[in-house]
Amino acid sequence: MHGTRILEETDRLMTVCNSCRYCEGLCAVFPAMEMRRAFSDGDLNYLANLCHGCGACYVDCQFSPPHEFNVNVPKTLAIARAESYAAYAWPRAFAGLFARNGLVISLVAATSVAAFIFGFAAVHDPAVLYGVHTGPGAFYRLMPHKAMAVLFGAAFLYAIVALIMSMRAFWRDIGEPVGMTTNPKSLLQAIRDAGELRYLDGGGVGCFNEGEKPTDRRRLYHHLTFYGFALCFAATCVATLYHYLLGREAPYPWWDLPVVLGTLGGIGLLIGPIGLLAAKSQRDPVLVDDQRYGMDTAFIAMLFLTALTGLVLLVLRETAAMGPLLAIHLGAVFALFITLPYGKFVHGLYRFVALVRYARERQMMAGEAGE
Ligand code: SF4
Ligand code: SF4
Repeated sequence: MHGTRILEETDRLMTVCNSCRYCEGLCAVFPAMEMRRAFSDGDLNYLANLCHGCGACYVDCQFSPPHEFNVNVPKTLAIARAESYAAYAWPRAFAGLFARNGLVISLVAATSVAAFIFGFAAVHDPAVLYGVHTGPGAFYRLMPHKAMAVLFGAAFLYAIVALIMSMRAFWRDIGEPVGMTTNPKSLLQAIRDAGELRYLDGGGVGCFNEGEKPTDRRRLYHHLTFYGFALCFAATCVATLYHYLLGREAPYPWWDLPVVLGTLGGIGLLIGPIGLLAAKSQRDPVLVDDQRYGMDTAFIAMLFLTALTGLVLLVLRETAAMGPLLAIHLGAVFALFITLPYGKFVHGLYRFVALVRYARERQMMAGEAGE
């Protein structure tokens, strides 16, 4: 007996697949499944998070609908995966809230913070809000650096704590001894597999997103989004070091490292999310978990909004539009931070944890086989 209906169904499918094994070369899910004869809830959540949703095993399956076995591995694992995010979220009550109303909550949070900053500046000194400010410290005329650091530091810290707590719960439930994290070989292998999105390639031919013609588009959009996010994060880290170590205040010149990293990352975060949303809308309906549409789109939409407002701010920062644009951009960043632990962002972290475990399992199997 499993904890939920979808885990029961996942168990049924994995039992069918374990007898068939036709798809074992497609991705990591099938070899990991073959290492087991029975599946705990944690095992099934582990397999669900190993799946990259390439759709190949649905296209290749001789037991997919209308066959009476009704095998639809990508969709079943997608639902199980989404339910696992809610099951491991911290605090748990927030997860359901975001799953149902993710986009609305994100937009309300972004608008509220933008309105607060806008209202604060307008009441305090409207001339500052609509004035033209240039040179180091220009942004902090709208909102003092200390207030900005406290507000965004608290939101970021909250997101980090919530993410660590939920990953810890996942790690424990998939039955992983804590010591396995310290194995550098499995960690490096997982970093490589995650960095390349190795298992989104449908066994080498590409992702089956719309119909039976595989392409690498989804992988490309994922890469643009992931590396765009990483570059923007790096830009924020460098800017923080500039501020505290070198005493240099934002905004920085066009050619300076935080601006170059942020611009490249921002471009990735414009193209990647648009591509992912387009791919999502074209995805074959038989593969789609339509219950989680709000949660999926909220994170992608907030990434896009953050990048768009950041790039517009960069272009217009020496005009009178800087004050209102900065308020809108900060609102978007704040909403992105507080929704990180409950939106689609977590799929990358859970998948990475599952890949670490998979790499370790492969190592142990190879060790036992004397390779
Ligand atoms: S998805 Fe279908 S073809 Fe692939 S292993 Fe499972 S039952 Fe076999
Ligand atoms: S990664 Fe692709 S082939 Fe593997 S289980 Fe998921 S959808 Fe099927």
